[in-house]
Amino acid sequence: MKRIVAATKNKGKIREIEAITSEFGMRVISRDDAGVPYVEVEETGITFEENSRIKAEAIMKLCGEITIADDSGLEVDCLGGAPGVLSARYAGVDGDDKANNEKLIANVGKFPESERSARFVSVITMVFPDGRLLQARGTVEGHIVLEPRGEGGFGYDPLFVPCGHERTFGQFEPEEKNAISHRANALRKLRELLKEEDLAGYEEEK
Ligand code: IMP
Repeated sequence: MKRIVAATKNKGKIREIEAITSEFGMRVISRDDAGVPYVEVEETGITFEENSRIKAEAIMKLCGEITIADDSGLEVDCLGGAPGVLSARYAGVDGDDKANNEKLIANVGKFPESERSARFVSVITMVFPDGRLLQARGTVEGHIVLEPRGEGGFGYDPLFVPCGHERTFGQFEPEEKNAISHRANALRKLRELLKEEDLAGYEEEK
């Protein structure tokens, strides 16, 4: 079994990642469980690709093992792609979902539903100690509603209705969301990239 370290602490994301990597004999452990010393990784990039890579490389340098990171967010077309890479801190405070959602509603409120098209984006980066880097982008298209609906999920889920559905992600069962989500789509692409890679040499469990 090979082990890979997840730059995220989010157990839900780690489970989603391991569902894909397990078929390649890869077990995913969180950076905490890998004993990575705590560091605040500054997301200074202006694209999801840059920030995903920054997170993966920062943690890989600290642990010397294969590392995987995800950077994700919401792009709203009538707002020129905002909140984008600033999704987690759109209203100023990192991770304040309530304030972020209120700001989003205020900003898209003047646009009709037909102009409130949006997508969730996830970019997954896997970096290897030998310098190899795999990167995969996944999206899910939808639109923004002005009234939050549903208690499920996190972040902007109560305001996002995926294409072909009437309900928000906040009203989805977790497995239902995981089947079509941006992260799932990125992980499916990563699976294809992993098929091309020579993973020999990473067999030893640490
Ligand atoms: P991060 O990639 O964990 O830093 O997430 C960035 C931000 O994007 C989160 O704080 C959420 O606001 C938003 N986001 C990313 N993925 C999702 C999702 O699946 N549902 C709702 N919001 C999301």
